[in-house]
Amino acid sequence: MNQYPGQQPFAGRIPQPIRPDGAGATDFGPRDVLRDMENPDMLVPPVTDAGLVPNLKFSFSDTHMQLNHGGWSREVTVRELPIATTLAGVNMRLTPGGVRELHWHKQAEWGFVIMGGVRLTAVDQNGRNFIADVGVGDLWYFPPGIPHSIQGLEEGAEFLLVFDDGSFSDLDTFSISDWFAHTPKEVLSANFGVPESAFANIPTEQVYMYQAAVPGPIESQKVPDPYGTVPLSFTHRLLAQEPIRTPGGTVRIVDSTNFPISVTIAAALVEIKPGGMRELHWHPNNDEWQYYLSGTGRMTAFASNGTARTFDVRAGDVGYVPFAFGHYVQNTGNDSLWFLEMFKSDRFADVSLNQWMALTPRELVQTNLNVGPELLDALRKEKWPVVRFPNFPSPTRSS
Ligand code: MN
Ligand code: MN
Repeated sequence: MNQYPGQQPFAGRIPQPIRPDGAGATDFGPRDVLRDMENPDMLVPPVTDAGLVPNLKFSFSDTHMQLNHGGWSREVTVRELPIATTLAGVNMRLTPGGVRELHWHKQAEWGFVIMGGVRLTAVDQNGRNFIADVGVGDLWYFPPGIPHSIQGLEEGAEFLLVFDDGSFSDLDTFSISDWFAHTPKEVLSANFGVPESAFANIPTEQVYMYQAAVPGPIESQKVPDPYGTVPLSFTHRLLAQEPIRTPGGTVRIVDSTNFPISVTIAAALVEIKPGGMRELHWHPNNDEWQYYLSGTGRMTAFASNGTARTFDVRAGDVGYVPFAFGHYVQNTGNDSLWFLEMFKSDRFADVSLNQWMALTPRELVQTNLNVGPELLDALRKEKWPVVRFPNFPSPTRSS
């Protein structure tokens, strides 16, 4: 007899789609047991789930890997996750010296360093240049159309790129090599005032990524610019920022209020400690695009009209919450769950269910929900983005 699969998913038992009350039946297969073990709340959804809520997650492990000399990239866009129309994400690795070539695109680019370090370069429309080295927990923002490059430093790097258009693809950008390859040589000659022989060895197609030597110290690469450097920095140290601390974890918010150049993308870096939960809330401005950096959790999206759906999430997953849908993210593991909440917006904004209730006349809440002092006295006027249930592990998983 199998136990409730959510209880001990790695105890050596094969989980079965059966509820504690007996609803369901064994699955003889064909089936992917490892995936079922990773998704206990999808194999046996909470009884509160109901209705037709579309898919809200996609793992980078299920994407096409673009392997190049110098690194790799893979992306989750509207083609992988159709509901995710506001933002697209690219997970990229660069070797030491590996270069994502000089390029630009129609979308703004927001980057977050997961491992190692990279050197960034850019030049704006007024000829003001930018160069910076960034490391773990740092981020950058390139406005639409601004040309730039990324190069791995001594350790190489892995990072997440987020673009403010779900239909973006990093394999469809304006690359310098691609333009050269598709411009008549006599035009290149006229443009630069040099003989055509200067272009004898240019690449014949888009390079995208390539292996180069690790660049020298940043001072050695700075190009003196008669127009000065860009007026608003393209980089920000997010992890170095002092977080909002609550008993369940930490939150670091970055948007145009503390990173002025980032006018189309806002984010929160959230840490949920074991036993903690990103509280029940929603966002009054736009959809939420999530990237899970570490750990495991589960999220239920409440879609109104009696519909809700629960997803198990883990490191490497992209999650998505449509505009205004209520949701929580609960840590289901024994390590901290870190993730990014991203919005196509100039600001981060969320509405806390708890805070809303605490700041509403008590009688309304009492009569509306038929609740008593036990709940009413515990409501908090102060927003706690991450909460912690006192008795860890949370009993919701074993009921
Ligand atoms: Mn780019
Ligand atoms: Mn949220």
